[in-house]
Amino acid sequence: MRVAASIDRRLKVVRTRRELREALANAPRPVGLVPTMGWLHEGHRSLMQRARAENATSVVTIFVNPRQFNSPEDLARYPRNEARDLAMCAEEAVDLVFAPAVDEVYPPGFDTSVSVGEIAGPLEGAARPGHFDGVATVVAILFALVGAERAYFGQKDAQQVMVVRRMALDLALPTEVIACPTVREPDGLALSSRNVHLSPKERAAAPVLNRALQVARARWQAGQRSADALRAVLREELAAEPLANVDYVSVADGHTLAELDRVDGPALISVAVRLGTTRLIDNEPLP
Ligand code: AMP
Repeated sequence: MRVAASIDRRLKVVRTRRELREALANAPRPVGLVPTMGWLHEGHRSLMQRARAENATSVVTIFVNPRQFNSPEDLARYPRNEARDLAMCAEEAVDLVFAPAVDEVYPPGFDTSVSVGEIAGPLEGAARPGHFDGVATVVAILFALVGAERAYFGQKDAQQVMVVRRMALDLALPTEVIACPTVREPDGLALSSRNVHLSPKERAAAPVLNRALQVARARWQAGQRSADALRAVLREELAAEPLANVDYVSVADGHTLAELDRVDGPALISVAVRLGTTRLIDNEPLP
């Protein structure tokens, strides 16, 4: 049990707003924050490593945020394993973990919502009504509680990064939002806590998301600038996988996420696909 003992010594876990504030009162600056919903994987690990490398204190939050789920079933089946999550945080020499109960984040009487405008409208915003209000609200609370100089988010959730950036800028929150590259399995599947729900057949089918994005990117690199043609390529590649039910394919402006006619500047190509009961998203920024 030497390992467990050394983990205990290093990693501080706090559960309440007050404990968090106290733990951070004299923490060395700058502070780097990594907000997560737990069931940590190598994607989260890359964010922790970046936070640790660039800051004197690194803070990870583990909170499955009910407000960003669209259905009670989806929330109920979201995977959780705090012991394993804390072990990864300890491995990455995280200084402080905030793992609160729902009431601690949303105290009784909580009645405020942060709603970001246009950038939260299309794609995930359209497919999952209310999702980004839930994300923006919890991130605003976490930014206020932690007061970090920097916060680290995954490019895998590209629109989330844009929504959080907009929110932080508009509300004058002094935390810099940093986007980190998507970490993938060797076959290209973007790591996601939701991958655990895939059956073996669905798991075998799941690399189709990245494959479709890469084929579209190759067409763009070969000179294709028609967004309709690129969307058709995405649909065609996804159609080759019988288990894949397409939610959306998108070729959008890289700043506004408005669907494009022609790709003449920065763009984001993205897909959302259902495999059985599991919904996966992935994206590829252009250039
Ligand atoms: P989640 O726990 O799914 O809410 O994710 C917490 C953070 O990890 C978010 O900023 C995600 O974008 C990021 N993240 C999730 N999957 C990946 C991945 N495969 N690579 C990099 N970052 C990721």
